[in-house]
Amino acid sequence: MATLLYDADADIELIRHKRIAIIGYGSQGHAHALNLRDSGCEVLIGLPEISRSRLKAEKDGWSPLLPHEAAARADCIMLLVPDQYQGQVYTESIKDTLSAGKILLVAHGFSLQYGQIVPPADVDVAMVAPNGPGVQLRQMYQAGSGIPALWTVYQDITGQARALTISYARALGCTRAGIIQTTLAEETETDLFAEQVVLCGGLTSLIRSAFETLVEAGYQPEVAYTCCLQEVKLIADLLYKGGIHFMHNSISDTAEFGDYVTGPRIIGEQSREQMRNVLHEIQTGTFARNWILENQAGRPTLQAMRRKDAAHQIETVGKQMRDLLP
Ligand code: NAD
Ligand code: MG
Ligand code: MG
Ligand code: MG
Ligand code: MG
Ligand code: MG
Repeated sequence: MATLLYDADADIELIRHKRIAIIGYGSQGHAHALNLRDSGCEVLIGLPEISRSRLKAEKDGWSPLLPHEAAARADCIMLLVPDQYQGQVYTESIKDTLSAGKILLVAHGFSLQYGQIVPPADVDVAMVAPNGPGVQLRQMYQAGSGIPALWTVYQDITGQARALTISYARALGCTRAGIIQTTLAEETETDLFAEQVVLCGGLTSLIRSAFETLVEAGYQPEVAYTCCLQEVKLIADLLYKGGIHFMHNSISDTAEFGDYVTGPRIIGEQSREQMRNVLHEIQTGTFARNWILENQAGRPTLQAMRRKDAAHQIETVGKQMRDLLP
């Protein structure tokens, strides 16, 4: 059973005595910076001169520095730029500012797990990965609660990394909900697997395929959109609240029977086989290599897929339906 740590397990004073650089002020960056500030920590923001996030940071009362300036002045550096740019930002702005006794933090294991960042041997390195987007991290903190997080220590040179990492998680509000210890490999691989197979890739392919099947068979696209896409939220809410058995209790017996007899026909052994292949590609770094090369090539596949995505009939029908049924 995974062990959960809570507020009582964390000493908030440890992080209050450090100067923290938050590099990047996007979804996670703004939430980390504001929660840490409200928890009594000293925070510096690091952003490039041309960053569009500067304005937002200034509106929130910060005076952003350049990434290497913020990193140089801090004891604790949290890297919150998009994963695909972390290697470059690290090399250009962080690497030379690291010295013995400092701690480098990330909120997702990708760049460390796949060797985009190779930290020096004399600094502490750890991860605090909140289980949700920055908006929620901030809102829950302000409401007096928090969202859970995964954490791990990758290098503990000072012997303080574990306690400091847990202290950082407390200042974010995450120990109010509970934090779970993991490893970089586990967090990175399960995160990529879940978003590809279930949350994003699996779900959108399921919805689109079902929508196309109904439309091809002559049903109205508006009806297909409503039942195959919009209603997903209602089921997801039930799953979130109580799990699969609870959801089954809340739907009609007809829907429940259909679930049992049809679900395994849709996601059968063939899909299971592909899930194992996908997991293998994640574990061996094949997916990471493709994504890193894609970025180096100027993202041709991402752009092409985005255009194709936006042109799909389900988007136009969806827009009409959302306007009609607010
Ligand atoms: P984001 O795209 O919302 O924000 C990125 C920020 O980095 C922006 O402020 C951008 O201006 C800045 N930036 C871009 N290039 C930069 C550069 N070269 N130098 C300095 N700053 C630069 O990203 P995010 O979603 O907050 O993700 C940050 C990290 O948090 C990632 O490791 C991600 O995996 C992790 N994470 C995200 C979520 C989430 O739900 N968004 C949840 C948990 C962990
Ligand atoms: Mg996006
Ligand atoms: Mg995640
Ligand atoms: Mg992810
Ligand atoms: Mg029922
Ligand atoms: Mg129904």
